[in-house]
Amino acid sequence: MRYFLSYFKPHRKLFFADLLCAAFIAAADLSFPMLTRYSINNFLGTSDFRSFYIFIACMVALYAVRTGAQYFVTYFGHLFGARVETDMRRDIFAHIESQSFSFFDGTRTGQLMSRITNDLFEITELAHHGPEDLFIAFLTLSGSLILMLTIRWELVAILAIFLPIVILHTALSRKNLMAASKNVKEKIAEINTATESSISGIRVTQIFTNEEYEKARFEKNNRCYYAAKRGFYRAMAFFHCRLDFFTSILNVIIIAVGGYLIMQAKMNLTDLITATLFSAAFLQPIRRLTAFVEQYVTGMAGFKRFTEIMRTSEEIKDKPNAVRIDSAKGDIEYENIGFAYNNGTTVLDKVNLSIKAGQTVAFVGPSGSGKTTLCSLLPRFYELNSGRITLDGRDITDISVESLRRQIGLVQQDVFLFAGTIKENIAYGKTDATDEEIIEAARRAEIHDDIIKTDKGYDTLVGERGIRLSGGQKQRIAIARIFLKNPPILILDEATSALDTATEIKIQKSFERLAKGRTTLVIAHRLSTIRNADRIAVVSDEGICEQGTHPSLLARNGLYASLYNAQKDLLG
Ligand code: ADP
Repeated sequence: MRYFLSYFKPHRKLFFADLLCAAFIAAADLSFPMLTRYSINNFLGTSDFRSFYIFIACMVALYAVRTGAQYFVTYFGHLFGARVETDMRRDIFAHIESQSFSFFDGTRTGQLMSRITNDLFEITELAHHGPEDLFIAFLTLSGSLILMLTIRWELVAILAIFLPIVILHTALSRKNLMAASKNVKEKIAEINTATESSISGIRVTQIFTNEEYEKARFEKNNRCYYAAKRGFYRAMAFFHCRLDFFTSILNVIIIAVGGYLIMQAKMNLTDLITATLFSAAFLQPIRRLTAFVEQYVTGMAGFKRFTEIMRTSEEIKDKPNAVRIDSAKGDIEYENIGFAYNNGTTVLDKVNLSIKAGQTVAFVGPSGSGKTTLCSLLPRFYELNSGRITLDGRDITDISVESLRRQIGLVQQDVFLFAGTIKENIAYGKTDATDEEIIEAARRAEIHDDIIKTDKGYDTLVGERGIRLSGGQKQRIAIARIFLKNPPILILDEATSALDTATEIKIQKSFERLAKGRTTLVIAHRLSTIRNADRIAVVSDEGICEQGTHPSLLARNGLYASLYNAQKDLLG
């Protein structure tokens, strides 16, 4: 709760202005029965029209001001709620952005989408109406009780019995409703996850003509969602009906007791009218409380899911005394490192490796042996379980993550292009790059000629609404990004898919240009491309089992020689 309220702080002025207006509205509503009573008692029997009209004009003025306050509450109150919601959404997004790869390995995109969007939808309503409803309800309830005391204590006694029943009932229903609402949110997150997965895989689905299968899978989730909603509405309906019953009975009781008192000549008709008007004023806050409970359960269920994410932290954090490095030389040392993914199977154990600045080291070995893993440890995408990695003699955990990653350029197998233009995608390597720099980078990455052939050149859209680039073109865009970033260390993950020879040569040329003067780690899939590497490290399940130059490893006639010969045979 304190965490929730901490989001109110930056907007507290708006919040208190809203409460003030709400208090005014409550006071205006409360004054209505009293004013009616006053006018009946003082004017109806007389013919003092002037005072009567002045009195009526004052009431109209009061309601006009009340309308202004209502406008403020409805508009600025919601605005306040929306600000809280927006702040929360910004924080959860920032939090997710800072998580390590392990977090994303274990979390589905659809789930995260749901937490960022749906789960926070009701926060506006809760943040705005919640405190306001509670506050107004408190004011009007206590106000009407006190004012009624001035009429007849017997009526207050009835209300005093009635009120705890309502509060108890509300408190008991809250837990049920909350669980039901959380369930609805979980199911919508599952729908999001399923949708995300099915739509990303639509091409596979269509080629296998599995649309019916996908529809059935979706329908299952959809049904679960429906069932969850049904549960929620059932709980809601019970809650409302019970409360409605209490409130209707209240009117009957007031009439009964009031009628009895009148028949006993202990009360006059005006007081009974006032009392029934008060019971209406009294029911208003009860309705508000009901609405509050509804908003509270749905809003809080979302907020709980929000805090669940905000509390899981798999961030790779800087040590308090982490240093920023400007430009690394590029000496890299893996010292006795051990690493396992979250699922626990050890991938690397007691691995040692030393790379001198400017050297190119190629990693080869069977797929799944840990080459990619070995390289992802350097930018600290994952944290080591044991041992350490140093850059220029300094433990990488002593370097600020941001400055460490600035030293490293990474070209992955499947390049991700963001929705946007080609230019924007290249400029991702240096967001403030000038057009000349971008074009120069594209030339060096051998992609410039391909780009100018498209309709709009550098302004051509890529991604879902734009053109599709081939695997080879995407790789060269990724290389252009790195030219712009210009880091001293490179990690190149060669594309596994075979490219045509012309593209292959272009990529090779740009890779070589990129690697010049930089410490380079290449994850090689085709051994022909790495013959010139300064060193080749052969990774197997036992870690790095052989190291050396191409000729020395061939001469050794070990795993490398057999891998090389197998590929040579394959390629003829
Ligand atoms: P290579 O690059 O040599 O093909 P990887 O480094 O990708 O090998 O994988 C090494 C091992 O780690 C494999 O057994 C793989 O299944 C496992 N692995 C890779 N990535 C992950 C991950 N994100 N989570 C869990 N296990 C993984």
